[in-house]
Amino acid sequence: MIKPIMRNELLLGMPSEPATEQDVPIGQDLLDTLAAHADSCVGMAANMIGVRKRIIVFDNNGTPELMFNPEIMHASNRFKTEEGCLSLVGVRPCERFRKIHVTYQDASFVRHERSFSGFTAQIIQHEIDHCNGIVI
Ligand SMILES: [Zn+2]
Repeated sequence: MIKPIMRNELLLGMPSEPATEQDVPIGQDLLDTLAAHADSCVGMAANMIGVRKRIIVFDNNGTPELMFNPEIMHASNRFKTEEGCLSLVGVRPCERFRKIHVTYQDASFVRHERSFSGFTAQIIQHEIDHCNGIVI
């Protein structure tokens, strides 16, 4: 279900709790809400639809992907950039890594480890920051 976008920076600044299998339907809400904003948004975290659970969705070169409890295990090649956010107006400077190694659980709560690079890696870092209550 498409959900309204949270824009309250105080609430966006609070860290999210670990997701459990009971939170799997929230993943579908995130996929639906991202699809509804595909013209202006490449990723979302659950707190952007008002749910403080560690769930993210992102566009991986045209394919939407969902992660539960994502964690960055390793990051390399730091660079300076600027980003926007559906919950904010305008863009802000930030630092990201070009390559990351991530662990997460899928919608069946099976654990995965994968590496990402480039823009997809940047989106994942932005969304994991949201899970930690960090807004660019
Ligand atoms: Zn954002």
